[in-house]
Amino acid sequence: MVSRRNFLRAAVSLAAAGACGGLVRPARASALPLRLSWYPYELKLRHLFGVAGNSRTTTQGVQVRLEYEGITGYGEASMPPYLGESAASVQEFLSRVDLSPFRDPFEMEAILDYVDRIAENNAAAKASIDIALHDLVGKLIGQPWYRIWGYSAEKTPATFYTIGIDTPEKVTEKTKEAPAFPILKVKLGRSPKEDKEMVTAIRSVTGRAIAVDANQGWPEKTLALDMIEWLAEEGCVLVEQPMSKHRPDDIAWITARSPLPIMADESLQRLWDIPVLSGVFSGINIKLMKCTGMREAKKMITAARTLGMKVMIGCMTETSCAISAAAHLSPAADWADLDGNLLIANDPFDGAGVSETGKLLLPDRPGIGAVPKPDAPGEHAVG
Ligand code: MG
Repeated sequence: MVSRRNFLRAAVSLAAAGACGGLVRPARASALPLRLSWYPYELKLRHLFGVAGNSRTTTQGVQVRLEYEGITGYGEASMPPYLGESAASVQEFLSRVDLSPFRDPFEMEAILDYVDRIAENNAAAKASIDIALHDLVGKLIGQPWYRIWGYSAEKTPATFYTIGIDTPEKVTEKTKEAPAFPILKVKLGRSPKEDKEMVTAIRSVTGRAIAVDANQGWPEKTLALDMIEWLAEEGCVLVEQPMSKHRPDDIAWITARSPLPIMADESLQRLWDIPVLSGVFSGINIKLMKCTGMREAKKMITAARTLGMKVMIGCMTETSCAISAAAHLSPAADWADLDGNLLIANDPFDGAGVSETGKLLLPDRPGIGAVPKPDAPGEHAVG
């Protein structure tokens, strides 16, 4: 198909050359191809990050660059261990990507369909190319993605600020130190006693709204509903993934009775999951690293809205590269949980920011608007 397309382009170019005496710009097909490169980059967390089931101090990442005619698009894959990808698997996937048949980066659907078909899964690896391609095309257009998509930068929500699982004393301390964002996010999903201690510790410091992520931790639906009713009285605004993704009937039972919206995270990966989740959850938490990137995330927002579902844009531990990419979608979301870059100590990018009150500030630069800091690594990019 591709060689036939190039043949046709060459034929059109030759015809044009004949028609105007040879004075014709080289056909697009002769332009420099897309050049993909990458390097592993381990993210160092400011604090030990704890959720129900595990805790860690680093996250594996891979930084990606896509160059075309002297312009560089930046992308990123971030791999928390529980999702099955690693820096090694992402680099192995990237080494299989052959973009040489593609001569025009604006063929985003064809390029990203090809990338998606290389192998199943590998969502973060695919997202790294998707983000770099969006960045590149936005730069070629000369506009930031929120504008290309028709969103208003004024409509960004405030991001949540996460307080990880810890002792009541530490939680009190962390809450006192937390920036003045309107919604704090807490990781629950342990025993009712421990969960209530954590919320009570936050309430000893502030009356701010709380978003709860149970990370599938509650074992039984009536226990979960009791907790959710208590959390509603404590000023919580939503509950994410109250029970295992393998218990959709129990989650639907909870959602039907819950005073708070119940959001899907672990139950959701890609666009095709959404119809099944309608009626089970109130809404979805979209993450670029799970859904293969900006292209699919945009489609997921449309699908969720069509089904009357709430939308939240979330993240993994990521640098300002992937966070900026996700932030361009945030004007279309009810909530944003995009504090991943605030939690790392070695962010190599400047990108989307936050105001003192947590409102996401979209960069006006073209593309995703993330630029490497002067001391960022990358000169030794390989691949
Ligand atoms: Mg979650």
